[in-house]
Amino acid sequence: MNNKLPSIVLIGNPNSGKTALFNRLTGLNQKVSNYPGVTVEQKIGIAPIGHKKMQVIDLPGTYSLVPESHDEAIVADKFAQWAQGEDIPNCIISVVDSTNLERNLYLTSQLIDLGIPIVIALNMMDLSREKSIDIDCDQLKLSLGVQAVIPVSARFNEGIDTLKNEIESACGISEIEQRLFTVPSPVQSALLPLQDWFKENYKISNSLSLSLAIRLASVDKVHGFDLPEKSIISQAKQDLNIIGFPSDTLEPVLRYHWLDQAVPKAEIPIDKKSKSEKADEILTHLWIGPIIFLGVLTIIFQAIFSGASYPMEFIDSGISTLGNWVATHLPAGLLTDLLAEGVIGGAGAIFIFLPQILILIFFLTILEDSGYMARVAIMMDKAMTKVGLNGRSVLPLMSGFACAIPGIMSTRTIDSWKERLVTILILPLMSCSARLPVYALMISAFIPNTKVLGFIGLQGLTMIFMYFLGTVTAIVLSFFFSKWIKSDKKSTFIMELPPYRTPLFRSVFQQVYLRGKLFVTDAGKIIMAISIVLWFLASFPKIETENGKTQSIHNSFAAKIGHSIEPIIKPLGFDWKIGLGLVTSFAAREVVVSTLATIYNVENGDEDYISLSEAMKRDKDPVTGKSIFTPLVALSLMVFYVYAAQCMATFAIVKRETNSWKWPLIMMAYMTALAYFGSLIVYQGGLLLGFS
Ligand code: GDP
Ligand code: MG
Repeated sequence: MNNKLPSIVLIGNPNSGKTALFNRLTGLNQKVSNYPGVTVEQKIGIAPIGHKKMQVIDLPGTYSLVPESHDEAIVADKFAQWAQGEDIPNCIISVVDSTNLERNLYLTSQLIDLGIPIVIALNMMDLSREKSIDIDCDQLKLSLGVQAVIPVSARFNEGIDTLKNEIESACGISEIEQRLFTVPSPVQSALLPLQDWFKENYKISNSLSLSLAIRLASVDKVHGFDLPEKSIISQAKQDLNIIGFPSDTLEPVLRYHWLDQAVPKAEIPIDKKSKSEKADEILTHLWIGPIIFLGVLTIIFQAIFSGASYPMEFIDSGISTLGNWVATHLPAGLLTDLLAEGVIGGAGAIFIFLPQILILIFFLTILEDSGYMARVAIMMDKAMTKVGLNGRSVLPLMSGFACAIPGIMSTRTIDSWKERLVTILILPLMSCSARLPVYALMISAFIPNTKVLGFIGLQGLTMIFMYFLGTVTAIVLSFFFSKWIKSDKKSTFIMELPPYRTPLFRSVFQQVYLRGKLFVTDAGKIIMAISIVLWFLASFPKIETENGKTQSIHNSFAAKIGHSIEPIIKPLGFDWKIGLGLVTSFAAREVVVSTLATIYNVENGDEDYISLSEAMKRDKDPVTGKSIFTPLVALSLMVFYVYAAQCMATFAIVKRETNSWKWPLIMMAYMTALAYFGSLIVYQGGLLLGFS
């Protein structure tokens, strides 16, 4: 971004209202990307402040500078950078939830040590007013030694102008009088060797190096800094223990003690039970809680399925109309073909996902911002951690039944990178709606419509079995993946439930808009590239005939690939035509149906129209005279589609969300292996049992 603009950063605890404030300051003038190397989101925007434009950065939420997750490490990284004199922002806005002052100010007190101008945005004033919490801002400013303390309410747009004014003047300050929280002198002496080490090695101020020494003694490391020899550290820790300051609690003990005196006592009326606590008695009740969650899930799915179907049909028909228009109105030729089939088809494949993505993100943001998601996480955590997942994995996994794409995008709410990764890797095993056409075709054509045990339909049972197979495999695999994937960080422990809050609709819509945009621009590129390649494979080479060049899918490159993989897929019961379907359906699973339709229409030539399932039933091997499709082949093919990674959009979104090619490739590899061996077992096992 623009480096010449003055820059300000927003730092605060999770749920303190950073994003709400960021949105107030920047409007839609913002850009979301990833921090280099990690998948944590970086939000940068431009805000008009005073007569200038300033660059605003919304950092991830954290409780302290001792990081426990990827998100929190970003903030600790920045702190280390600034402490070492790189990229120092003109001003830090410490976003503080005024209803929970002391805990929020812990982080602020760590930031103060940097000696960078700090403006405290005392957010949620509307709520603390309601609770009659009265905070003396001037007093707070003096005792903390910050540049300003401004009461604001990001929700009601209160105090934002004053905040901007104070930011403007704070940015003009070059030298600030440093203040350090009081550290008892015996502690200072014990820490002196560590302090000196930081001072000499990093050329930093007295107070900052003391603060780093305190952190080092407490947690044995300081994120983003080299460390002195072990012996110096253990000596200092020993000295601390002798004078009665247990080293591992040193930083919190000292800081909270200092804050206790520095923070003017806010009048907090002790009401019996807050509204949130009352609500939680029902919403997180042992068995009513999960039932309510189930209800919420049902509403969300209903909304995804019914709400997305019209826009999806609209996009689908819009895209094909556009493709037809281009094909008939532009001069016939290669370029027109490419445009009509490859490019417009690719765009269709991108936009078709938008309705589901937008709807799911909309609900998810509401659940997250309202504070309900934190409760769900706790309710579900016990069961989910048993298989290596997280309480927050439930909603993404369930949405995988509709479509893996929005599900994978919504795993962002899982703080632990490892649990998020495991969730992403197994999510495509949930049978999404794109598998339905494949199941439906195979079942209606080859599974007899009989009853089992007199009342259960065999066709329905087969369908349920496919869903069951995917889900159970997902659960088993998540267990193995979580053993296999290394992680140095444990899952973050939820310190305190945030109170329930009404989500800010402006924030919700911005989130939805940004997510949608991100999908179209980022994952869209990969989807477009793959669909052009697939178009090429299916439409070339062209063959010379009497009336010019023509082409049929039968002698396309895709068909050649189908033929050449025939020996490999023969043991699964598949012939080259299914092989060709496997190639083209990498675009999306349901494409196999239209590919088969194309192949069989062509084969039947000018004969009377017969349905695809009828054509498949009649198809015989020219050499042996045996049917190509049998119930066993159909079963094998369905199992193949339960497991196979046949979806370029999933591939693209996993690339985008994990910020690497490694994970999407691993995902494809394991799913393809599962598909192959799953089908192999079904087909060969079936043959052994005497089916054919
Ligand atoms: P972040 O995690 O720090 O980015 O916090 P968000 O900006 O996402 O805000 C968390 C929740 O608090 C959301 O539901 C917001 O709508 C809500 N919120 C933010 N600022 C205020 C405020 O000033 N007053 C009230 N009542 N709610 C707020
Ligand atoms: Mg935020």
